[in-house]
Amino acid sequence: MRKPLIAGNWKLNMTIAQSLELVNTLKSQLSEINNVDIVVAPVFTSLNCVAEFLKGSNIAVSAQNCYPENKGAFTGEVSPDIIKDVGCRYSIVGHSERRQLFRESDIFINKKVRSLLAKELITILCVGETLAEREMNEMYNVIERQVTFGLHGVSPSDMRNVVVAYEPVWAIGTGKTASKKQAEEVHAFIRRTLTDKFNDEIANETRIIYGGSVKPDNIDELMDQPNIDGTLVGGASLNSADFCRIVNFQRI
Ligand code: PEP
Repeated sequence: MRKPLIAGNWKLNMTIAQSLELVNTLKSQLSEINNVDIVVAPVFTSLNCVAEFLKGSNIAVSAQNCYPENKGAFTGEVSPDIIKDVGCRYSIVGHSERRQLFRESDIFINKKVRSLLAKELITILCVGETLAEREMNEMYNVIERQVTFGLHGVSPSDMRNVVVAYEPVWAIGTGKTASKKQAEEVHAFIRRTLTDKFNDEIANETRIIYGGSVKPDNIDELMDQPNIDGTLVGGASLNSADFCRIVNFQRI
């Protein structure tokens, strides 16, 4: 029902030459895949050449972030219009690194979500609790707040362009993956939150993907969970063999 989505978040890595080398390998190694949506998210400066190189292929391109205004006096920022112009179909927003390092609030993230959806860009909204929040039993409150605020004012019809990424902060780049049970519990909770906010149909159609130290050796058990519809992959997406194995996950 929900087509799996595997997205590679390259973060602040790779020059243009390195980006093209990586997508050259991915394009040939993954050309036969048609049952998974494959996405790569390079740095802004590589977006255009990567998108041009992947034109007509089965790999789509995503920005890692955007600013919620389309133009104006916003030095250093990049807008949904510009992202679309360079060939992106997706953008990530609300990544925990942006929430933590750049102090992005739920309200600001919500503005980004709405500005991306207004341009029909597929929006990957990241949510997730810190270790302290999990240990204080605040996890579900935090996630409910991030989902509800993040999707404030989003219409039911725009939800077709929304993907929610559950990324427990304690599992990002740490080598600690949430167990399949921990991840599934939160994914099921997010789906219930979407039912409460919208309805069962939208909740059942929205893809909820997992991120946090996803690797070739844990992808299969994660993808075996009923509410996990794909993954957002950081470190392992920089290695073509690892990323290809993740895209080629096996049903257990
Ligand atoms: C991420 O950056 O979204 C991520 C999940 O990183 P990693 O896979 O390296 O934990």
